[in-house]
Amino acid sequence: MSDIQMDIALPNDNDGFVLLQCSLCGEFFKLRPSDVKADDVIQIWCPCCGLKSNSYVTDDIIELAEKMTKNITIDKVFEEMKKIERQIKGNGVSFKAGKRPQEELEAPIIAGIEALETQKYKCCKREAKIKPLVKMCGSYCPYCGVRYDEYK
Ligand SMILES: [Zn+2]
Ligand SMILES: [Zn+2]
Repeated sequence: MSDIQMDIALPNDNDGFVLLQCSLCGEFFKLRPSDVKADDVIQIWCPCCGLKSNSYVTDDIIELAEKMTKNITIDKVFEEMKKIERQIKGNGVSFKAGKRPQEELEAPIIAGIEALETQKYKCCKREAKIKPLVKMCGSYCPYCGVRYDEYK
């Protein structure tokens, strides 16, 4: 897949899916990087609009990935500060970690991404994570473009 740059540090979720966004319809979805990079995968169809986009890693995604990485770092630093605070308490030294720094996450986008549901595509024996609404209305196999209806 030369079209999709999977090498940038996109955050994987617990199931190993990576977040993508269709540049045509703007919908978010998730695929497994190992599937996207597979030799038999030549093109990726957007599971939401069923079209073949040139790019599934948009500026939004990169920005989001950067924010998520940054927030993870902020959290780690804050936890460390808290530890130090606990350790030196009672030694007559005053040290306060203070308030947790403001996180930069775009809450509605994150909430939407977290709510993505797994859809199995039997045709290609692969899975994607898509919006529950898209799943309900019918989605497209990202690996061959076949339409799937939930209630078929
Ligand atoms: Zn699309
Ligand atoms: Zn398929």
